[in-house]
Amino acid sequence: MLTINPVANNRNYTNLSFGIFLPKKVFTDIRDIPRMKCGCCGDDMFTSDETKSFINSFAAGSKRALENSAMDRFRSTPAFEFLKSLSEIRPKDTIAKLLSVDENKAKLKTLGERTRLDVNMMSLISEGITVKAPRFMQKLEKYRDFFGAEDSEILKVMEAYSLKYPDKTFAEIFNMPEVLQYHREIAELDKEHSCAKRIEVFKQLRVFGQKLTPVDRKSLQDANTKAMGVLNCEFFEPDIKKGLIGDLYKDFARGAKTHFWRKNLMKIVDELPVTGRTADSFIIHCSESKKTDKDIITYFAKSLQATYEHFIPRSKEGADIKENIIILCGKCNHRRSNLPYPFFLRFAPEMMNNLQKQFNKIITFIKHGKLIGYDDYPIVMKENVLNGSDNLIRLQIRDYLDFRKERAVKQVERTQAALVRDDDRINSVSGRISEIDEKIKELEAQIRKLKKERQPLKTELEDAKEVYRASQLDAEDAKTELNTINDSIVQDREINAILKYKRRNLKK
Ligand SMILES: [Zn+2]
Repeated sequence: MLTINPVANNRNYTNLSFGIFLPKKVFTDIRDIPRMKCGCCGDDMFTSDETKSFINSFAAGSKRALENSAMDRFRSTPAFEFLKSLSEIRPKDTIAKLLSVDENKAKLKTLGERTRLDVNMMSLISEGITVKAPRFMQKLEKYRDFFGAEDSEILKVMEAYSLKYPDKTFAEIFNMPEVLQYHREIAELDKEHSCAKRIEVFKQLRVFGQKLTPVDRKSLQDANTKAMGVLNCEFFEPDIKKGLIGDLYKDFARGAKTHFWRKNLMKIVDELPVTGRTADSFIIHCSESKKTDKDIITYFAKSLQATYEHFIPRSKEGADIKENIIILCGKCNHRRSNLPYPFFLRFAPEMMNNLQKQFNKIITFIKHGKLIGYDDYPIVMKENVLNGSDNLIRLQIRDYLDFRKERAVKQVERTQAALVRDDDRINSVSGRISEIDEKIKELEAQIRKLKKERQPLKTELEDAKEVYRASQLDAEDAKTELNTINDSIVQDREINAILKYKRRNLKK
């Protein structure tokens, strides 16, 4: 089993994503689960972050980037001089990294507008430049076993070029006129050769058809047309094309009314030259589509990446929901194309086991609360896989159902405990309410009693007030009388004084 770990040497990254810190991390997308294995081939896959860091690990350092021919048109500009001066201090840092340093940002600001534009353009171009061919192959080396037959063939040719042109990157090599010319010629020869062979085989099939009834001849012609379509299809790999074409003629033979030896027919069909993507077509495509070095490594990285795969195709009413999605590596996803699973499984029987393993991993993550939103995934997906594979893949989810049952039982227990708790609380609160009601009644009786006691006191108060008012009047009368008497006394004194005075005057 191949193990992918592009960042094994980067301790910080490893600690953040994997290892002992893992339990803290929660996922909402199965593609992000670390060390997820392909549901088909069973190999490890890159998460999207890992794919990015894998691609970035191929980026050329600034020194190498500046040496690249893509930079030729800048070679005599001040921008080139500027980047060269930065690169001399840290030649292994990429241009983008050099320009992200604050100090260098400040330096860049002091330059003219034209130069700044050139620098940015060069930074952009440098992102498409990877390390040179030998280093490129060296970095890809540990993933070599992972690639399928066609990509391995391409890598073999690339390896040869890395030895022949060790000072160039692959984009440079593929764009060399002699290289492109060579592969175009080979591809042309191949095409001519397989075309000729194809024409010959179809001619034999026509001869074979002459022995058939007109109806059977017509269905053989239909099979030929369909076979031609499969041969011309770019998506299918050679073994799959062979399988599809074989099925077409077997179907025809089964339905034919004319008696003939199926073996004889299949012998002719077997001669059909099925071709897939070759190193030649890959190199021509890279060159004609102006692929950068980064495009080339991205092409290989995509094969290693975890990708969504709708198990029941959307074209066959497969829902676009996560319960219809499994995870395949890019290589297997590409290989599966849009083939129905019952057919594809003939070429990937290991999928029956590997999909179960992927399921087990997903289930473990759900059980530990590390995968959110996938609770129904195993149950619904099991049905979809069964239907989509014509009952060929029967996933075992007994353990998960047991787990769900246990969880449901616990939930019932929890809610029942809560009910008892709530019941107790209701009882205790209503007891308290009765107590208070009792007290209110007591207090009301006391109020009534006090009201009764108050009534006579109020009457007495009124009486007392009445008496008081009468006494007040009496007091006023008495006061008036006193005043009158006082007046009289004053008067009397005055009279006496006058008399006394008169009497004294008389004696004189
Ligand atoms: Zn795979």
